[in-house]
Amino acid sequence: MIDLQFDRDHLWHPYTSMADPLPVYPVARAEGATIMLEDGRSLVDGMSSWWAAIHGYNHPVLNRAVTEQLGRMSHVMFGGFTHEPAVELGKRLVDLLPAPLDRVFLCDSGSVSVEVSVKMALQYWQAAGRPEKQRLLTVRSGYHGDTFMAMSACDPVTGMHSLFSGVLAEQLFAEAPSCGFSEPWREEAIDDLRVLLEEHAARIAAVIIEPVVQGAGGMRFYSPRYLQRLRELCSEHGVLLIFDEIATGFGRTGELFAMHHAGVVPDIVCIGKALTGGYLTLAATIASGAVADTISGGDPGVFMHGPTFMANPLACAVAVASIDLLLSRDWRSEVQGIERQLRAGLAPCASMAGVREVRVLGAIGVVELERPVDMGRIQKRFVDRGVWVRPFGRLVYLMPPFIISESELARLTSAVSDVVREEVVHAS
Ligand SMILES: *Cc1c(COP(=O)(O)O)cnc(C)c1O
Repeated sequence: MIDLQFDRDHLWHPYTSMADPLPVYPVARAEGATIMLEDGRSLVDGMSSWWAAIHGYNHPVLNRAVTEQLGRMSHVMFGGFTHEPAVELGKRLVDLLPAPLDRVFLCDSGSVSVEVSVKMALQYWQAAGRPEKQRLLTVRSGYHGDTFMAMSACDPVTGMHSLFSGVLAEQLFAEAPSCGFSEPWREEAIDDLRVLLEEHAARIAAVIIEPVVQGAGGMRFYSPRYLQRLRELCSEHGVLLIFDEIATGFGRTGELFAMHHAGVVPDIVCIGKALTGGYLTLAATIASGAVADTISGGDPGVFMHGPTFMANPLACAVAVASIDLLLSRDWRSEVQGIERQLRAGLAPCASMAGVREVRVLGAIGVVELERPVDMGRIQKRFVDRGVWVRPFGRLVYLMPPFIISESELARLTSAVSDVVREEVVHAS
């Protein structure tokens, strides 16, 4: 049996107290869209382990990719060496991403890929003779990771900037995009950002933004037209554009990358999460040739970053297998099917008291409540119903693996409707 007392006394979990931790559920194994607890209960997975496990768990094709690579080498330094998994992954990323995004930096996690993207932007302007361009412009309600530079671009309120004021870089924040995904475009939706850009462009290195879907900062969806206008404004004012596709990449929003909804291309893109199908930690920052060449032509003539586990062969091998698996299936129909079922299944929530809005895009379904949930209580209610749903704040949401069956997804949506109804009544 897993030693829960030791876990409680010694292991940090994400965003938890060590003095008064909420209970954690011991997992024995996982398979497809099912997570099996040590006590024999099984849960239908509604979270894909935070956007990552798009093919579900324990997938034979991904297992084989890891095992075969393991027999060759699990790791070798990337300084001075290269290997087939890195090259094959690089080829796929360059193929999948629109030109001119074709210079790939492989790194360990989403947050690190954001750090790398900002460092690229700063080195770019250094090399271009504009070293004073060092600030970032972004929008409220964003989330870009937990390391310091990434955190500085997160929403100032949910990102708890007050806690770290004095050490956090001070960035510029425009209002979050206010024009919904399918609403007719209103030019005022970008006014605030445009004014900040006009005023501060001389000191701004880059705009960083999650395209179309703002994830952990509020699960908000906004108009692709915003990104088209943003691209125009960045080009006009000489500011680089960074897309953080860490959550949205690999089909989650109904397009392979969320930028495809808008048909615009940033100067730098960050990817992670579903890159390895949720198997191992890996992320990438992919820049345009212009960005890479400018950095390389400046002083010191190299890009100043190089993680110990850069391009880890096991992670690259499973990423290659995950991408091939995704493209070999009709992932677009799978995601469209999930979208239809989420719309129908979550629709009853829209008229419930205490529910502010229900919204669905691709394989993402969100029920936004008026008030924050009691996390410990609601988590247990979901587990008792045989599903794994992990709300945060006022948001109860589903983003299941793409391989989920109709009946499994039906269990998730009915659990969400029932639990939301009961919890909101309980809270009022
Ligand atoms: C999760 C996430 C990150 C951070 O990735 P980690 O792998 O957790 O460091 C950054 N940006 C977005 C949009 C994310 O969803």
